[in-house]
Amino acid sequence: MNFRLAVIPGDGIGPEVVNQALKVLDRVASVYGHTFEKVNLLAGGCAIDETGEPLPKVTVEECLKSDAVLLGAVGGSKWDNLPGNKRPEQALLGLRGQLKLYANLRPAVVYEQLKDACLLKAGNTSDIDIMVVRELTGGIYFGERGRRDSEMGQQAFDTEVYSTYEIERIARIAFDIARKRKSRVTSVDKANILESSRLWREVVTQISKDYPDVELNHLYVDNASMQLIKDPSQFDVILTTNMFGDILSDEASMITGSIGMLPSASLGDGNFGLYEPVHGSAPDIAGQDKANPLATILSAAMMLRYTLNLKKEADAVEKAVNRVLEEGYRTGDIMSPGKTLVGTQKMGDMVAGFIE
Ligand code: NAD
Repeated sequence: MNFRLAVIPGDGIGPEVVNQALKVLDRVASVYGHTFEKVNLLAGGCAIDETGEPLPKVTVEECLKSDAVLLGAVGGSKWDNLPGNKRPEQALLGLRGQLKLYANLRPAVVYEQLKDACLLKAGNTSDIDIMVVRELTGGIYFGERGRRDSEMGQQAFDTEVYSTYEIERIARIAFDIARKRKSRVTSVDKANILESSRLWREVVTQISKDYPDVELNHLYVDNASMQLIKDPSQFDVILTTNMFGDILSDEASMITGSIGMLPSASLGDGNFGLYEPVHGSAPDIAGQDKANPLATILSAAMMLRYTLNLKKEADAVEKAVNRVLEEGYRTGDIMSPGKTLVGTQKMGDMVAGFIE
């Protein structure tokens, strides 16, 4: 099959890790008989240098003409002193908004081979395989906000707003994903206090009737954050709002202890999606062939699975990553005694070589 991919390498280690993912995708294309037409695009600091804008219009237009977007990372100290709306990170918010990406998927997996990196030492850490599904374009980050005078001095307010429609569409994404995993959804809210959470809970419960094969339970966010530390292996899919998801997805990913291993996906309607590693542009190691490309390679695997519907191919990439780890190859960030240290490019070569 033929697919058109928008590729945004970005800044710092972005281009280095994206190149390794493209290497792996090229191998997938040749083994499975697909064609990936790639369009290279600017966003972030490099776009500011070239065009004066963090997110040039043409980048958004080309993304919209593509099946999926693969992004590296943006940002760096060179652009730190620019005003807020001109900073490289503005490109990320712009892309999410303009591409209408309302669902953020963040897996947190502890690889058996890397379980020493897991920050939790007790319990069965190798069973940790969580998918956080976070609503990305609604809630308190987008509700009315402002300041006003009051008898107690200045007041500031932010408003959490959710509509049935917004909750329904993110809930369906979570239930659909659970069906491809262990068929369990934990919906996280604060329904004992917040009205928006009570609507959230009602709608999620209603939608769950269309998924009788998926088990649903509800947790308050304070309890969920404790349970994540106490026994993360109890979770399969965590479905939650924008702000709670922002916090819980970082908590879940830190448990794994390996920032260089964490992929993510942002989805909208239909199959379109943007795929990127969770980490940033890591200016401290940029250009030194030290970056771990596995987060970006695993993001490409998510793209194969969720947007291109190429399940076998996605499995093959994930298996190849496992195989590389099993054979003891490590970049510096996940290195441990007795293992073989490799650079960014060699890691990409090894994964590509194990695609069968
Ligand atoms: P960072 O994720 O770039 O780096 C944090 C630490 O993790 C650094 O020590 C870095 O060397 C290490 N690290 C990150 N990715 C790695 C990888 N693949 N392999 C090995 N080590 C890795 O976060 P930061 O230092 O807070 O931010 C650096 C820049 O990146 C900033 O400009 C920030 O705004 C930007 N940023 C961008 C994104 C994004 O593009 N999505 C996300 C976070 C931060």
